Amino acid sequence: MVKRQLSMVLDLNKCIGCQTCTSACKLQWTNRNGREYMYWNNVETHPGAGYPRNYQNSGGGFDEDGALKIGITPIAEDYGIPWEYNYEEALMTGTDPWLRPNVKPTWGANWDEDEGRGDYPNSYYFYLPRLCNHCANPACLAACSRNAIYKRQEDGIVLVDQERCRGYRYCVTACPYKKVYFNEEISKSEKCIFCYPRIEKGLPTACAKQCVGRIRWIGYRDDEAGPIHLLVEKYKVALPLHPEWGTEPNVFYVPPMAPPRIDGNGEPTEETRVPLDYLKSLFGDGVVSSLDTLREERAKKQSGAESELMDTLIGYRHAEMFKLS
Ligand code: SF4
Ligand code: SF4
Repeated sequence: MVKRQLSMVLDLNKCIGCQTCTSACKLQWTNRNGREYMYWNNVETHPGAGYPRNYQNSGGGFDEDGALKIGITPIAEDYGIPWEYNYEEALMTGTDPWLRPNVKPTWGANWDEDEGRGDYPNSYYFYLPRLCNHCANPACLAACSRNAIYKRQEDGIVLVDQERCRGYRYCVTACPYKKVYFNEEISKSEKCIFCYPRIEKGLPTACAKQCVGRIRWIGYRDDEAGPIHLLVEKYKVALPLHPEWGTEPNVFYVPPMAPPRIDGNGEPTEETRVPLDYLKSLFGDGVVSSLDTLREERAKKQSGAESELMDTLIGYRHAEMFKLS
Protein backbone atom coordinates (compact mmCIF):
# COMPACT_ATOMS: atom_id res chain seq x y z
CA MET A 1 0.00 0.00 0.00
CA VAL A 2 1.44 3.36 -1.02
CA LYS A 3 0.77 6.75 0.59
CA ARG A 4 -0.62 8.26 -2.62
CA GLN A 5 -1.26 6.96 -6.13
CA LEU A 6 -0.88 8.96 -9.32
CA SER A 7 -3.27 8.04 -12.06
CA MET A 8 -4.18 8.88 -15.63
CA VAL A 9 -7.53 8.93 -17.46
CA LEU A 10 -7.68 8.85 -21.27
CA ASP A 11 -10.85 9.69 -23.21
CA LEU A 12 -10.88 7.40 -26.26
CA ASN A 13 -13.57 9.55 -27.87
CA LYS A 14 -11.00 12.27 -28.40
CA CYS A 15 -7.92 10.33 -29.53
CA ILE A 16 -7.13 11.01 -33.20
CA GLY A 17 -4.23 8.54 -33.42
CA CYS A 18 -1.72 11.25 -34.29
CA GLN A 19 1.09 9.59 -32.26
CA THR A 20 2.32 12.92 -30.90
CA CYS A 21 2.33 11.30 -27.45
CA THR A 22 4.40 8.40 -28.80
CA SER A 23 6.92 10.80 -30.33
CA ALA A 24 7.07 12.92 -27.18
CA CYS A 25 7.84 9.84 -25.09
CA LYS A 26 10.29 8.39 -27.59
CA LEU A 27 12.28 11.59 -27.95
CA GLN A 28 12.39 12.08 -24.21
CA TRP A 29 13.23 8.55 -23.06
CA THR A 30 13.76 5.80 -25.66
CA ASN A 31 15.42 7.06 -28.80
CA ARG A 32 18.77 5.27 -28.34
CA ASN A 33 20.96 2.70 -26.53
CA GLY A 34 19.04 -0.51 -27.15
CA ARG A 35 15.68 1.20 -26.68
CA GLU A 36 14.96 1.70 -30.37
CA TYR A 37 12.19 -0.89 -30.42
CA MET A 38 10.62 0.26 -27.16
CA TYR A 39 7.40 2.24 -27.08
CA TRP A 40 6.78 3.06 -23.45
CA ASN A 41 3.76 4.86 -24.89
CA ASN A 42 2.17 3.43 -28.02
CA VAL A 43 -1.16 4.08 -29.72
CA GLU A 44 -2.70 1.00 -31.32
CA THR A 45 -5.78 0.44 -33.43
CA HIS A 46 -8.55 -1.70 -31.93
CA PRO A 47 -9.70 -4.23 -32.90
CA GLY A 48 -6.13 -5.17 -33.76
CA ALA A 49 -3.14 -7.21 -32.67
CA GLY A 50 -1.50 -4.36 -30.75
CA TYR A 51 2.10 -3.93 -29.69
CA PRO A 52 3.80 -6.30 -29.16
CA ARG A 53 1.75 -8.44 -31.52
CA ASN A 54 -1.05 -10.37 -29.77
CA TYR A 55 0.03 -9.19 -26.32
CA GLN A 56 -3.56 -9.72 -25.13
CA ASN A 57 -3.00 -13.47 -25.49
CA SER A 58 0.44 -13.50 -23.89
CA GLY A 59 -0.70 -14.46 -20.38
CA GLY A 60 0.68 -13.14 -17.12
CA GLY A 61 -1.17 -11.20 -14.42
CA PHE A 62 -2.98 -13.00 -11.59
CA ASP A 63 -5.65 -15.70 -11.44
CA GLU A 64 -8.89 -15.38 -9.42
CA ASP A 65 -7.14 -16.65 -6.29
CA GLY A 66 -4.43 -14.01 -6.61
CA ALA A 67 -1.72 -16.41 -7.80
CA LEU A 68 0.78 -15.08 -10.32
CA LYS A 69 0.22 -16.57 -13.77
CA ILE A 70 3.04 -17.59 -16.06
CA GLY A 71 2.95 -15.73 -19.35
CA ILE A 72 5.09 -15.80 -22.44
CA THR A 73 7.92 -13.50 -23.42
CA PRO A 74 7.35 -11.98 -26.85
CA ILE A 75 10.02 -12.74 -29.45
CA ALA A 76 11.76 -10.01 -31.44
CA GLU A 77 9.43 -10.53 -34.41
CA ASP A 78 6.42 -9.71 -32.19
CA TYR A 79 7.83 -6.23 -31.74
CA GLY A 80 9.21 -6.00 -35.25
CA ILE A 81 12.90 -5.89 -36.11
CA PRO A 82 13.98 -2.22 -36.35
CA TRP A 83 15.28 -1.55 -39.83
CA GLU A 84 17.55 1.00 -41.48
CA TYR A 85 17.58 2.38 -45.01
CA ASN A 86 20.36 2.44 -47.61
CA TYR A 87 20.54 6.23 -47.55
CA GLU A 88 24.19 6.32 -48.59
CA GLU A 89 23.72 4.16 -51.71
CA ALA A 90 20.34 5.55 -52.75
CA LEU A 91 20.78 9.22 -51.98
CA MET A 92 24.52 9.96 -51.94
CA THR A 93 26.46 7.63 -54.24
CA GLY A 94 23.61 6.55 -56.52
CA THR A 95 24.84 2.94 -56.51
CA ASP A 96 21.31 1.67 -55.70
CA PRO A 97 18.38 3.27 -57.54
CA TRP A 98 15.92 2.33 -54.76
CA LEU A 99 15.65 3.49 -51.18
CA ARG A 100 14.93 0.26 -49.30
CA PRO A 101 15.00 -1.19 -45.78
CA ASN A 102 17.95 -3.43 -44.89
CA VAL A 103 15.65 -6.21 -43.58
CA LYS A 104 12.23 -7.26 -44.84
CA PRO A 105 9.77 -5.70 -42.37
CA THR A 106 7.08 -8.14 -41.20
CA TRP A 107 5.65 -6.39 -38.15
CA GLY A 108 6.01 -3.23 -36.11
CA ALA A 109 4.08 -0.77 -34.01
CA ASN A 110 0.92 0.24 -35.94
CA TRP A 111 1.44 -2.43 -38.56
CA ASP A 112 -2.35 -2.90 -38.64
CA GLU A 113 -3.22 0.77 -38.10
CA ASP A 114 -6.77 1.74 -39.15
CA GLU A 115 -7.62 -1.78 -40.36
CA GLY A 116 -10.20 -2.44 -37.65
CA ARG A 117 -13.03 -4.80 -38.42
CA GLY A 118 -16.29 -5.07 -40.35
CA ASP A 119 -17.47 -3.95 -43.77
CA TYR A 120 -18.84 -0.66 -45.03
CA PRO A 121 -21.11 0.90 -43.84
CA ASN A 122 -20.52 -0.85 -40.51
CA SER A 123 -16.73 -1.00 -40.40
CA TYR A 124 -15.20 0.34 -37.20
CA TYR A 125 -12.04 0.94 -35.20
CA PHE A 126 -10.75 3.25 -32.50
CA TYR A 127 -7.38 4.20 -31.10
CA LEU A 128 -6.13 2.90 -27.78
CA PRO A 129 -3.06 4.66 -26.34
CA ARG A 130 -1.19 2.40 -23.92
CA LEU A 131 1.45 2.96 -21.28
CA CYS A 132 2.45 1.16 -18.09
CA ASN A 133 -0.57 1.18 -15.77
CA HIS A 134 1.54 1.72 -12.63
CA CYS A 135 -0.64 -1.00 -11.19
CA ALA A 136 -1.66 -1.18 -7.52
CA ASN A 137 -0.86 -4.92 -7.71
CA PRO A 138 1.96 -5.04 -10.26
CA ALA A 139 2.63 -8.48 -11.73
CA CYS A 140 6.08 -7.28 -12.86
CA LEU A 141 7.01 -6.52 -9.25
CA ALA A 142 5.60 -9.81 -7.93
CA ALA A 143 7.59 -11.77 -10.52
CA CYS A 144 10.98 -10.14 -9.92
CA SER A 145 13.22 -12.46 -7.92
CA ARG A 146 15.80 -9.68 -7.46
CA ASN A 147 13.38 -7.24 -5.79
CA ALA A 148 14.50 -4.80 -8.45
CA ILE A 149 10.99 -3.47 -9.14
CA TYR A 150 9.36 -1.18 -6.61
CA LYS A 151 6.45 1.23 -6.17
CA ARG A 152 7.30 4.69 -4.92
CA GLN A 153 5.53 5.48 -1.64
CA GLU A 154 4.88 9.11 -2.51
CA ASP A 155 3.09 8.57 -5.83
CA GLY A 156 2.82 4.82 -6.59
CA ILE A 157 4.97 5.07 -9.73
CA VAL A 158 6.42 1.62 -10.56
CA LEU A 159 10.15 1.68 -11.37
CA VAL A 160 12.91 -0.80 -12.20
CA ASP A 161 16.02 -0.29 -10.06
CA GLN A 162 18.70 -0.47 -12.73
CA GLU A 163 21.39 -1.34 -10.16
CA ARG A 164 19.52 -4.42 -8.93
CA CYS A 165 18.12 -5.66 -12.27
CA ARG A 166 20.01 -8.64 -13.71
CA GLY A 167 17.87 -8.97 -16.85
CA TYR A 168 16.09 -12.23 -15.94
CA ARG A 169 12.97 -10.92 -17.77
CA TYR A 170 10.46 -12.51 -15.36
CA CYS A 171 8.79 -9.09 -15.32
CA VAL A 172 8.32 -9.13 -19.11
CA THR A 173 6.72 -12.55 -18.86
CA ALA A 174 4.47 -11.59 -15.94
CA CYS A 175 3.16 -8.23 -17.18
CA PRO A 176 -0.02 -9.06 -19.13
CA TYR A 177 0.14 -5.64 -20.81
CA LYS A 178 3.72 -6.31 -21.96
CA LYS A 179 4.79 -2.87 -20.83
CA VAL A 180 8.23 -3.87 -19.58
CA TYR A 181 10.91 -4.11 -22.25
CA PHE A 182 14.27 -5.87 -22.24
CA ASN A 183 17.26 -3.79 -23.27
CA GLU A 184 19.70 -6.21 -24.88
CA GLU A 185 22.53 -3.68 -24.95
CA ILE A 186 22.66 -3.36 -21.18
CA SER A 187 20.89 -6.65 -20.26
CA LYS A 188 18.32 -4.90 -18.09
CA SER A 189 14.57 -4.37 -18.15
CA GLU A 190 13.18 -0.89 -18.70
CA LYS A 191 9.72 0.63 -18.67
CA CYS A 192 7.62 3.80 -18.52
CA ILE A 193 8.68 5.89 -15.54
CA PHE A 194 5.56 8.11 -15.64
CA CYS A 195 8.01 10.95 -16.36
CA TYR A 196 8.84 11.10 -12.64
CA PRO A 197 11.55 13.76 -13.10
CA ARG A 198 8.85 16.00 -14.62
CA ILE A 199 6.26 15.02 -11.99
CA GLU A 200 8.72 16.00 -9.24
CA LYS A 201 8.88 19.47 -10.79
CA GLY A 202 5.08 19.74 -10.89
CA LEU A 203 4.90 19.04 -14.63
CA PRO A 204 2.61 16.48 -16.33
CA THR A 205 4.02 13.53 -18.27
CA ALA A 206 5.33 14.38 -21.75
CA CYS A 207 2.59 12.27 -23.42
CA ALA A 208 -0.16 14.16 -21.59
CA LYS A 209 1.35 17.61 -22.06
CA GLN A 210 1.84 17.15 -25.79
CA CYS A 211 -1.50 15.39 -26.45
CA VAL A 212 -3.09 17.10 -29.43
CA GLY A 213 -6.57 15.76 -28.64
CA ARG A 214 -6.32 16.77 -24.93
CA ILE A 215 -7.50 13.29 -24.01
CA ARG A 216 -5.36 12.79 -20.87
CA TRP A 217 -5.99 13.82 -17.26
CA ILE A 218 -3.47 13.24 -14.48
CA GLY A 219 -3.98 13.40 -10.74
CA TYR A 220 -3.97 11.52 -7.47
CA ARG A 221 -6.61 8.89 -6.74
CA ASP A 222 -7.30 10.36 -3.28
CA ASP A 223 -7.86 13.94 -4.50
CA GLU A 224 -11.64 14.18 -4.25
CA ALA A 225 -11.63 17.59 -5.93
CA GLY A 226 -9.54 16.35 -8.86
CA PRO A 227 -10.48 15.05 -12.31
CA ILE A 228 -9.46 11.43 -11.66
CA HIS A 229 -11.89 11.10 -8.76
CA LEU A 230 -14.64 12.72 -10.81
CA LEU A 231 -14.18 10.44 -13.83
CA VAL A 232 -13.32 7.17 -12.06
CA GLU A 233 -15.26 7.30 -8.78
CA LYS A 234 -18.02 9.90 -9.06
CA TYR A 235 -19.36 9.29 -12.58
CA LYS A 236 -17.68 5.89 -13.07
CA VAL A 237 -17.14 6.55 -16.76
CA ALA A 238 -13.39 5.76 -16.78
CA LEU A 239 -12.49 2.08 -16.64
CA PRO A 240 -9.27 0.03 -16.48
CA LEU A 241 -8.17 -2.05 -19.47
CA HIS A 242 -8.63 -5.78 -18.79
CA PRO A 243 -9.47 -5.58 -15.07
CA GLU A 244 -9.72 -9.39 -15.09
CA TRP A 245 -5.94 -9.62 -15.36
CA GLY A 246 -5.81 -8.75 -11.65
CA THR A 247 -3.08 -6.09 -11.56
CA GLU A 248 -5.39 -3.21 -10.55
CA PRO A 249 -4.31 -0.65 -13.15
CA ASN A 250 -4.11 3.07 -12.39
CA VAL A 251 -4.62 4.08 -16.02
CA PHE A 252 -8.31 4.36 -16.95
CA TYR A 253 -10.18 4.80 -20.22
CA VAL A 254 -13.40 6.56 -21.14
CA PRO A 255 -14.78 4.06 -23.68
CA PRO A 256 -15.61 5.12 -27.24
CA MET A 257 -19.20 5.99 -28.08
CA ALA A 258 -20.09 4.91 -31.59
CA PRO A 259 -22.75 5.73 -34.19
CA PRO A 260 -25.53 3.16 -34.78
CA ARG A 261 -25.12 0.13 -37.02
CA ILE A 262 -26.86 0.55 -40.35
CA ASP A 263 -29.27 -2.16 -41.51
CA GLY A 264 -29.72 -3.55 -45.04
CA ASN A 265 -32.13 -0.72 -45.91
CA GLY A 266 -29.63 1.91 -44.92
CA GLU A 267 -31.52 2.71 -41.70
CA PRO A 268 -29.88 3.15 -38.28
CA THR A 269 -30.49 0.31 -35.78
CA GLU A 270 -30.46 0.19 -31.96
CA GLU A 271 -27.02 -1.47 -31.99
CA THR A 272 -23.81 0.55 -31.88
CA ARG A 273 -21.24 0.13 -34.63
CA VAL A 274 -18.50 -0.82 -32.15
CA PRO A 275 -20.09 -3.98 -30.66
CA LEU A 276 -20.81 -3.74 -26.95
CA ASP A 277 -19.44 -7.25 -26.39
CA TYR A 278 -16.12 -6.16 -27.85
CA LEU A 279 -15.93 -3.21 -25.47
CA LYS A 280 -16.89 -5.49 -22.56
CA SER A 281 -14.03 -7.81 -23.51
CA LEU A 282 -11.64 -4.87 -23.08
CA PHE A 283 -13.10 -2.87 -20.18
CA GLY A 284 -15.43 -5.28 -18.37
CA ASP A 285 -19.19 -5.06 -17.79
CA GLY A 286 -18.90 -1.53 -16.33
CA VAL A 287 -18.71 -0.28 -19.90
CA VAL A 288 -22.52 -0.54 -20.21
CA SER A 289 -23.31 1.98 -17.46
CA SER A 290 -20.32 4.11 -18.48
CA LEU A 291 -21.71 4.51 -22.01
CA ASP A 292 -25.24 5.14 -20.65
CA THR A 293 -23.92 7.93 -18.42
CA LEU A 294 -21.91 9.45 -21.26
CA ARG A 295 -24.96 9.50 -23.56
CA GLU A 296 -27.21 11.00 -20.86
CA GLU A 297 -24.73 13.73 -19.99
CA ARG A 298 -24.02 14.49 -23.64
CA ALA A 299 -27.77 14.89 -24.29
CA LYS A 300 -28.01 17.18 -21.27
CA LYS A 301 -25.21 19.37 -22.57
CA GLN A 302 -26.70 19.40 -26.07
CA SER A 303 -30.00 20.62 -24.64
CA GLY A 304 -28.21 23.59 -23.10
CA ALA A 305 -28.22 22.30 -19.50
CA GLU A 306 -25.11 22.18 -17.30
CA SER A 307 -23.02 18.99 -17.28
CA GLU A 308 -20.05 18.79 -14.94
CA LEU A 309 -18.99 15.57 -16.65
CA MET A 310 -19.03 16.95 -20.20
CA ASP A 311 -17.31 20.17 -19.11
CA THR A 312 -14.54 18.05 -17.58
CA LEU A 313 -14.22 15.81 -20.63
CA ILE A 314 -13.98 18.79 -22.99
CA GLY A 315 -10.74 19.69 -21.19
CA TYR A 316 -10.86 23.45 -21.53
CA ARG A 317 -7.69 24.20 -19.56
CA HIS A 318 -4.55 22.19 -18.82
CA ALA A 319 -4.58 23.57 -15.28
CA GLU A 320 -7.82 21.66 -14.67
CA MET A 321 -6.59 18.50 -16.43
CA PHE A 322 -3.36 18.06 -14.49
CA LYS A 323 -3.65 18.14 -10.68
CA LEU A 324 -0.20 17.28 -9.45
CA SER A 325 -0.28 18.27 -5.80
FE1 SF4 B 1 4.07 -3.71 -14.06
FE2 SF4 B 1 2.84 -4.18 -16.38
FE3 SF4 B 1 1.43 -3.13 -14.32
FE4 SF4 B 1 3.28 -1.65 -15.58
S1 SF4 B 1 1.40 -2.48 -16.50
S2 SF4 B 1 3.03 -1.86 -13.32
S3 SF4 B 1 4.84 -3.15 -16.12
S4 SF4 B 1 2.37 -5.17 -14.39
FE1 SF4 C 1 -4.21 10.27 -29.14
FE2 SF4 C 1 -3.29 12.43 -27.83
FE3 SF4 C 1 -1.61 10.48 -28.50
FE4 SF4 C 1 -2.63 12.07 -30.44
S1 SF4 C 1 -1.25 12.72 -28.76
S2 SF4 C 1 -2.45 9.80 -30.48
S3 SF4 C 1 -4.70 12.45 -29.61
S4 SF4 C 1 -3.33 10.29 -27.06
